[in-house]
Amino acid sequence: MLTRLDGRAAIITGGSKGIGKGMARVFAKHGASVLIVARGEEAAAAAAEEICASGGTAAHFATDVGAPDGAEMMAEAAIGRFGRIDILCSNAGIFPATPLRDMTTADIDAVFDVNLRGTMLAVRACIPAMEKAGKGRVIITSSITGPITGYPGWSHYGASKAGQLGFMRTAAIELAPSNITVNAILPGNVMTEGMHEMGEDYIQAMTAAIPMKRIGTVEEVAYTALFFASDEAGYITGQTIVVDGGQVLPESLVAL
Ligand code: NAP
Repeated sequence: MLTRLDGRAAIITGGSKGIGKGMARVFAKHGASVLIVARGEEAAAAAAEEICASGGTAAHFATDVGAPDGAEMMAEAAIGRFGRIDILCSNAGIFPATPLRDMTTADIDAVFDVNLRGTMLAVRACIPAMEKAGKGRVIITSSITGPITGYPGWSHYGASKAGQLGFMRTAAIELAPSNITVNAILPGNVMTEGMHEMGEDYIQAMTAAIPMKRIGTVEEVAYTALFFASDEAGYITGQTIVVDGGQVLPESLVAL
């Protein structure tokens, strides 16, 4: 049983849908006040309302984490609403697919701006408040795609997700003296709104490639984030946990 997060404030980027919404729900259930951040105000507000309706504490803030001042405004909103920032789940991400030979610089910039630059800016924006609190927890949602595996159409996405880990390792060293840990989760395939948009054929093909023969749930990723955010994980930094039902394990289709 992990120590509850009562009295702590968590920012969840991409908290209006999918994995981030699951994180917001789980963190609120364990006592944290959560700020749900996304570009779309309506879905962010609805996610916060759902949490409040079930007895939790939540607010929302609409911004683009990849925009130059988006993350700073997000951190200011968290301080304004809750007076502190203890936890950042840098989870907002996009995954448009484009074959490399057709990829434009605009395609690359769009993915890097949200997934990589957005993560770096969000972490940077939260440092002063975490240092004031005397400790902090940063949990980055990376992916198996990039750090471990590849998938046609996602060369920019994979590069951004691997880049998050490169960023994490140096950030973890720089922030360790301030008692701020920086860790990452590498999900495999998780059932989210974004996954639904990939279509039924993609979902079936992926399910067949997973030793556990099922797509993961947002809660299974969210509880991993909860562990990284806990007091009990206070001596773990710069590390990754793969949450994928064994998807990266088979050497070949024969292994399945
Ligand atoms: P999703 O269902 O598409 O939700 C994405 C969330 O991010 C939404 O709340 C979205 O809201 C927000 N968002 C997107 N761009 C943003 C921006 N520029 N600024 C602020 N918020 C933004 O995605 P998901 O499947 O839950 O994925 C969440 C994270 O997990 C991503 O980093 C993704 O790469 C990673 N991941 C997912 C899977 C999977 O199988 N689902 C697997 C591996 C890794 P708005 O659109 O309103 O901004």
